[in-house]
Amino acid sequence: MSENQDPRELGDLAAHWDELEIGVEYPVASNHCRYCQSTDLVLVVKLEAMPGSLAGVQVKTSARKWPYLRCKGCGHESRGQQ
Ligand SMILES: [Zn+2]
Repeated sequence: MSENQDPRELGDLAAHWDELEIGVEYPVASNHCRYCQSTDLVLVVKLEAMPGSLAGVQVKTSARKWPYLRCKGCGHESRGQQ
């Protein structure tokens, strides 16, 4: 499964959030980088560990998926909202 994907609206990607795979770059349509104005943006899902461990205390570590918007033009990455 290495076919190029068509750019999708952020809202469309968000609507299919559960189907997005970690580490895969999903081209984003109708958006641009605020730093270099490039329209070559991708959504990347990362696994993020949840904070909450205290020194000396064993806490069950949990992780959750989090969206990042990455600019292929200048490399800027911004943490999305979910
Ligand atoms: Zn950029």
